[in-house]
Amino acid sequence: RFITLEGGEGSGKSTQANILAERLARSGRPVFATREPGGSPRAEEIREVLLSGQAASFGPLAEAVLFSVAGDHIDNAIQGALQQGQWVVCDRFVDSTRAYQGATAGVPRPLINALEKLTVGALMPDITFILDIPAEEGLARVETRAEGTELDRFESQELMTHERIRRAFLDIAEEEPGRCVVVDASQPEAMVAEDVWETVLQRLNP
Ligand code: C5P
Repeated sequence: RFITLEGGEGSGKSTQANILAERLARSGRPVFATREPGGSPRAEEIREVLLSGQAASFGPLAEAVLFSVAGDHIDNAIQGALQQGQWVVCDRFVDSTRAYQGATAGVPRPLINALEKLTVGALMPDITFILDIPAEEGLARVETRAEGTELDRFESQELMTHERIRRAFLDIAEEEPGRCVVVDASQPEAMVAEDVWETVLQRLNP
């Protein structure tokens, strides 16, 4: 069973990924929880470069490649965990690249598809939760969390860009209703967690 969480800045993905992984573990399911980009020392280095702003000089296509590279080893680890019968919960996956570098930054979809094919192959999640929140609300959360520390390159983009990213995720959900479930992420944390859990029970009957 493979579950991913996607959404814009401040949508609460990471929190919900943790809650879900804990819940699965408590109910006796072996869980492998991970995130993209990151998860290994090399990938964390690439993550640093991408988030620090240096990647801006590469342009969106190079960025899409770097995000894919940073996720590559995770794809292998995910395959392995699934083969061992573990439940996999991943904070961001291919939909982030589709939404950020594809729909929003303008990398043509065939290129995004080719990258996906090279990295994840046929590995697609059973459920993808799209945590949906108005860009303004999400950004307000991010700013509260940052408390004076600097925002990363993506977090500090303009509000309009964040609205486009939100739209891109909603479009993906419309394109693939069998895989994607949109959750209202402006609800309190516990309610979002309930929605996620209910869906997992209904769809995957753990
Ligand atoms: O999940 P998290 O918010 O920590 O992700 C780090 C950043 O990387 C985010 O700000 C996100 O916008 C960006 N990102 C991206 N393209 C991806 C994956 C992540 O722009 N494919």
